[in-house]
Amino acid sequence: AMSVSVGVIDASDLVIERNTAPSPKPDPSTLVFGKQFSDHMLTIDWSDKDGWEAPQIKPFQNLSLHPASSALHYSIELFEGMKAFRGVDDRIRLFRPMHNMERMHRSAERSCLPLFDKAELLECIRKLVEVDQEWVPYSLDASLYIRPTFIGVEPSLGVSRAGKAMLFVIVGPVGPYFATGSFNPVSLLADPSFVRAWRGGVGAYKMGGNYGPTIAVQNVALQKGCQQVLWLYGEQEEITEVGTMNLFIYWTAENGEKELITPPLDGIILPGVTRQSLLDLSRAWGEFKVTERRMDMKELLGALDAGRVLEVFGAGTACVVCPVGSLLYKDKTYQIPTMQNGPDLAKRFYKELTDMQYGRKQSDWAPLV
Ligand code: PMP
Repeated sequence: AMSVSVGVIDASDLVIERNTAPSPKPDPSTLVFGKQFSDHMLTIDWSDKDGWEAPQIKPFQNLSLHPASSALHYSIELFEGMKAFRGVDDRIRLFRPMHNMERMHRSAERSCLPLFDKAELLECIRKLVEVDQEWVPYSLDASLYIRPTFIGVEPSLGVSRAGKAMLFVIVGPVGPYFATGSFNPVSLLADPSFVRAWRGGVGAYKMGGNYGPTIAVQNVALQKGCQQVLWLYGEQEEITEVGTMNLFIYWTAENGEKELITPPLDGIILPGVTRQSLLDLSRAWGEFKVTERRMDMKELLGALDAGRVLEVFGAGTACVVCPVGSLLYKDKTYQIPTMQNGPDLAKRFYKELTDMQYGRKQSDWAPLV
């Protein structure tokens, strides 16, 4: 850049230091989520005094942090999860990346971390993917996972706003969630004694502090032979999310109408990019009713019993859609006929989104890198 901007993130100030000792790329068939990383990372430092420093792309390396850094003590930390895909035309695409930037901006605001220009940050991330483009798997069912992270690095134990912060982005190849073509249904533990988020809390923000405490509950689910947790809330045992996915129920309503239902964004739900995409698609199709509303366990079990439930599935970046096959609730297992019903709708969503992501269908939801 001709002149260095002071205080704001400016992608034209990017400084790139190339890795002279690149790592070998793993075989796409052996990928384990989140364990392999590319050759470079993006870091952008911020302080009260100087604002945002010039963004840097540099060799992937450890961070050096003051041991009193507020991220380590008070979870002043937030993150995002997005992907880059290598398409049938060998070109690389992102998927609705501005939605991730907007969610990250909201998380930053709620964390008292500094705000940033979303388009400039996205341009820095685009550049990182370009530098590490060979790390985007040459595969139509793998992708490059992108993990933007923002931490408070105030070197002080006072519980107060961080006057120093670091935004960094790491990326790594990830494999398919499902072996090609086959959807594996998951079993869920629905135990109202565990709560992920609550009204007035921060469940709608992608903060690390929301995730660490869920691991013990996930372990309880595994011990009981379930694969994921169905998070319930309140006296009514409202159905909220499943694991780290938003939840969708496709059923025949009491009046005989087909309807797709997902819980509303009322503060206890993470506003998923996939969730929004399924809502946008199905509203554009206009073939069935689409509703964002609360649903409790009683209503779901009643509909299951009446044979009105067609498909239940999770939706998220990891898998696009993930069918739900059964529910363990108060020591009783309830079968959900998702697989017996195709699952026609879940498969249609899966195809629609992956067609855009892998360039089989041109869409402005999947911009080129
Ligand atoms: N809910 C939670 C709690 C999550 O962590 C995620 C993953 N970001 C989602 C839902 C799905 O969101 P997205 O579609 O943006 O991946």
